[in-house]
Amino acid sequence: MPRIRAVVTDLDNTLYPWVDYIVPSLEAMVDSLVASTGLPRIRIVQSLKEVYTRYESNEYPFAIQESDIFLPYERDFDSFNQMVLKPAQKAFTDARGRWLQTYPGVKETLDWIREQGLTLVALSDAPRNAAEARVKSLMLDGHFDALYTMPAYPLPKNVDPAIRKKEEAGHYKSRTTVRELPRDAEKPSPVGLRQILSDFQLRGPEVLYVGDNVRKDMPVAQACGAIGVWAEYGTYISHEYRERLATIAARSVTARHVSDEGQERWPLAISSFTQVKDLIRGARWTQPRPARARTRTKP
Ligand SMILES: [Mg+2]
Repeated sequence: MPRIRAVVTDLDNTLYPWVDYIVPSLEAMVDSLVASTGLPRIRIVQSLKEVYTRYESNEYPFAIQESDIFLPYERDFDSFNQMVLKPAQKAFTDARGRWLQTYPGVKETLDWIREQGLTLVALSDAPRNAAEARVKSLMLDGHFDALYTMPAYPLPKNVDPAIRKKEEAGHYKSRTTVRELPRDAEKPSPVGLRQILSDFQLRGPEVLYVGDNVRKDMPVAQACGAIGVWAEYGTYISHEYRERLATIAARSVTARHVSDEGQERWPLAISSFTQVKDLIRGARWTQPRPARARTRTKP
């Protein structure tokens, strides 16, 4: 078995259950918008979903001022900002603080990995701003040697001047070094992991790559010769949350975050992130093979 020198990990549904936080956070934001504008919930939800689809992110933070139904309120940005935007943003942020939690043992395991002198890198398909906000909210800032993300979304023209000032001052930036990958590096493209191998001078077999999505994450590991570890626990999403998510979030975007229940399997699977420790120690070693290669050929 080759010596492991680095762990590269996916974020959403690998370190924390993304669905368990985004559903109540978006619902809290919509509740706030219903209360502040008196608009029907259905109109608010549908117009926000249109923006999420356009920006390919269910966490696009400026969805409210970009969506058509709020246009009449923008005639006076200051009152719109105070009475509609700020309470909605606060509702989302408060809910995120409450519901965004790591899976059990994640923080301790990340600390342990670094204590072993291993390189620890996160590779996410989330836009830079969203990935940074989650890492900061989880207080995982500083746990990684680097964070690789999709490109950030720019600030819209009509934004709270205080937010623009903070953004320009780097207030929202994570302490971790962040590298934005090109849009077409989205997984299952191996471009992101290849870049990490090159930046940290690693060879594929020296790297454990942990991710929840068999179709998106495991091909990345395979293409780079890394040891793909399937975070099988991340694929469980309750039926209730799947339905609530489909109501409130853009389906095309959700498909990127949430694996299908009936997806194929990967031989090296873990039921808790803490088992990454066992793999590094050499226990439970299984030679990872792609699921398709297991079909028997006739002798
Ligand atoms: Mg994931």
